[in-house]
Amino acid sequence: MALNEKDLKKFEGILIEQKNKLKEELSRIANPTSDNGDYEIKHEEIGSDREDNASEVEEYVDNVALESNLEEQLKEINNALEKIKNGTYGACEECGVDISPERLEANPSAEKCMKCAGK
Ligand SMILES: [Zn+2]
Repeated sequence: MALNEKDLKKFEGILIEQKNKLKEELSRIANPTSDNGDYEIKHEEIGSDREDNASEVEEYVDNVALESNLEEQLKEINNALEKIKNGTYGACEECGVDISPERLEANPSAEKCMKCAGK
């Protein structure tokens, strides 16, 4: 593995920070349903006013898209943190080569090397 202890600690710090931010964002629109990053969108009670209804439904649809996007990111981060723990962090999940530090710098939860991700 190309990364040393110090690099790993640094990426771990960034990932934990990102994770906390994501959780905060998610908690505004969804409730956690388990400890491993699953969320269920909060469903506001839909009022009786018809115009109100339309905008609430619209907002709900937006939140569903946002929620699944955030949940996806959170899972990638959890996955990366897991890999730091078991010593496989920084290796491409597809071909196993070391992901370049520049790429991890830009996206610490990157799962694949530039080549595999570009496919
Ligand atoms: Zn690869």
